[in-house]
Amino acid sequence: VVKGNGRNNFRFFETSMNAATLRTISIQQGLRAGMEHDQFFLHYQPKFDCSGASIVGAEALLRWRHPELGLISPAEFIPVAEKSGQILALGQWVLEQVCREMRAWQDAGRSVAPIAVNLSQIQLRSPGLVEDILATKRRHGIAPDLLMFEITESAAMENADETRKTVDRLKAAGFALAIDDFGTGYSSLSHLQEFGVQQMKVDRAFIRTLAEENPQARSIVTAIIRLAHALEMEVVAEGVETPEQLRLLQELQCDQTQGYLLGRPMSGDDFSRLLNPDVTASTAFPTVAALPA
Ligand code: C2E
Ligand code: MG
Ligand code: MG
Ligand code: MG
Repeated sequence: VVKGNGRNNFRFFETSMNAATLRTISIQQGLRAGMEHDQFFLHYQPKFDCSGASIVGAEALLRWRHPELGLISPAEFIPVAEKSGQILALGQWVLEQVCREMRAWQDAGRSVAPIAVNLSQIQLRSPGLVEDILATKRRHGIAPDLLMFEITESAAMENADETRKTVDRLKAAGFALAIDDFGTGYSSLSHLQEFGVQQMKVDRAFIRTLAEENPQARSIVTAIIRLAHALEMEVVAEGVETPEQLRLLQELQCDQTQGYLLGRPMSGDDFSRLLNPDVTASTAFPTVAALPA
């Protein structure tokens, strides 16, 4: 039994700690072990051109299979990792893993498409970020046009001056950038213009209500697409789930779509097979260890 420093500390602790707090603590304490014991893996969700006919890339989405808690959503563990600072190690693992998988696909003679990596605001503020990214892609021999980075609107705006410096350095190194979850934060239009990033991803909240019989939702999405195009940005619609939404987005001249309708997040091997439909089971993807020396 844990003893408190003072008389009633333990009892106070016991009664005030609810299940949610305990879960957060076990997530925080499990992050390091999770990295050491390969409990993390990536899913890739394809991005399509607006006709829905061709894949233009994918987004890497982090997954954690916790030994006791099962599959935990990044929406739950990323904020915990941000608070504890472990997001820096986790973010580096994601980058490393994306480069490793792309390297293996290329070595197996497969075609690849640009992969977008989500960056946390903590990573954005970390002084070593750009050097780490450059060293990682160099180590794996990945061309800069095969990697892009997504920064949420709220993270970008919260610290606009610092964001701009990092964005400039990433652009100078040849990487494309996207503003993620657009419409949920408070954008300064002048900052948005200054960043000069290539893509704007319209938050799922605006796509969810997009329907023929909802003129207001259509007007909002129309306005966002016009704004993006006025800033010379490509527009990606997130969370496209119905054929009607896809059709409306085509009408509104949206450039790319992502969502359960056309492609759910999937394993790297499934994504690579989607890009390389002629790869048969007999030429099954070799594991890195099985590749010739
Ligand atoms: P996000 O970057 O905005 O990613 C989109 C999220 O929407 C993903 O959730 C994806 O699975 C989900 N989604 C995609 N299409 C649909 C759809 O049609 N309907 C619905 N209902 N959902 C859809 P996920 O994978 O749970 O990730 C949640 C968030 O966690 C991400 O939002 C991103 O902010 C963060 N995240 C994920 N991986 C990473 C990472 O490697 N690093 C960082 N810093 N954040 C990450
Ligand atoms: Mg994203
Ligand atoms: Mg998003
Ligand atoms: Mg999001």
